[in-house]
Amino acid sequence: MNIIYADNNATTPVAPEVVEAMKPFLTTEYFNPSSMYEPARRTAHAIQAARAQVARFFGLADSSAIEFTSCASESNNAAIFGAVRANPGRRHVITTAVEHPAVLEVCKELTREGLDVTFLNVDRQGNLDIGEFIRALRPDTLLVSIMHANNETGVIFPIEQLARLAKETDPAIIFHTDATQSVGKIPIDLRGEFQNVDLLSFSGHKVHAPKGVGGLYIKRGTRCRPYLIGGHQEEGRRAGTENVPYIVGLAKALELAALGLDDENTRGRGLRDRLERTLEERIPYVEINGRGAPRLPNTLNISCHCVEGESLLYQMSDLGICASSGSACTSGSLEPSHVLRAMKVPDAAVQGSVRFSFSRYNTEEDVDRIIEAFPSMVANVRRMSPYWDQEKNAPRLGAMDSA
Ligand code: PLP
Repeated sequence: MNIIYADNNATTPVAPEVVEAMKPFLTTEYFNPSSMYEPARRTAHAIQAARAQVARFFGLADSSAIEFTSCASESNNAAIFGAVRANPGRRHVITTAVEHPAVLEVCKELTREGLDVTFLNVDRQGNLDIGEFIRALRPDTLLVSIMHANNETGVIFPIEQLARLAKETDPAIIFHTDATQSVGKIPIDLRGEFQNVDLLSFSGHKVHAPKGVGGLYIKRGTRCRPYLIGGHQEEGRRAGTENVPYIVGLAKALELAALGLDDENTRGRGLRDRLERTLEERIPYVEINGRGAPRLPNTLNISCHCVEGESLLYQMSDLGICASSGSACTSGSLEPSHVLRAMKVPDAAVQGSVRFSFSRYNTEEDVDRIIEAFPSMVANVRRMSPYWDQEKNAPRLGAMDSA
């Protein structure tokens, strides 16, 4: 069966060019980059070239600001715990209620360690309230950690503005952003509009590099203690023998992303918008989560009233269509998504959310097949739902408002 892969916010296929770039370092160029002999110096050089490439991707001249890690979860842990440990005089952290667990759970851990954490709320569209953010800043705020784009809805937060406001209030506040979902999908210039960001996390497997490699940007001068302690790799910031093939793969993936960014965004947005429009036309009682806010061009999060997202996923899976309900890390549990809960998606719809996320490898035919399958699946599930008759006969809030 031909697979339709529409779950690229969970992970992406590795680009063939990335596999080619990695191959020598999985075969003949296996040397430990810390060793003194000539072949090892070649692997050390490959890491430095990769670091320079990643730095260029973010508009940076100084490649030493890039640290390679194993994944974005590690980058987030390193950024948050590293900042907290380096600044023991301050005890307040600001984050949001809709972060990925790789930030949310770390912040909850901080509260268990006695820090005070403010979890900012979002509105119905998924936007933050800038006034609430400003009011949350305190003289003892040490760190702000706010994601760039949401993994479930694609909603983009105004990091430029938030980081500027934090620095204007107090230049000593450290600003971290988890950019795992936005890197490679929308431009990020760390010397331009993102110049007030101190720490930025990203991951290889969301940008057509393999799983098992990520990165952390650390602006020069940022007070952040190393997280993994041991050897002196990564200029003493992260111990552990470098994963040379994967680091090379990550750099190649970002090089490709930079080359294709504009075209891919236009194409991805075209696929997403056509799917969104058609599903909305063909399925009554749906919520397009995050519409009305700035959104990633590749992501559609749709909630169908009186349906369980999981049951749609299983049916789609039988047809070879891969999508997701909520984030990959929380799927498998039937708990409603914390992101949709925070956005106050109506109770009847919060369990019925499905996320489609595209990449450069998706085609118009993929969208056709989803459009062919999805509306009738929803109709079938609803026929069996005891709530559906009640729901479709009840006046809708929107309809009542406009009446
Ligand atoms: N942050 C966000 C926003 C994500 O979407 C993900 C993965 O889905 C992560 C962090 C964790 O990434 P990784 O799998 O590289 O640890």
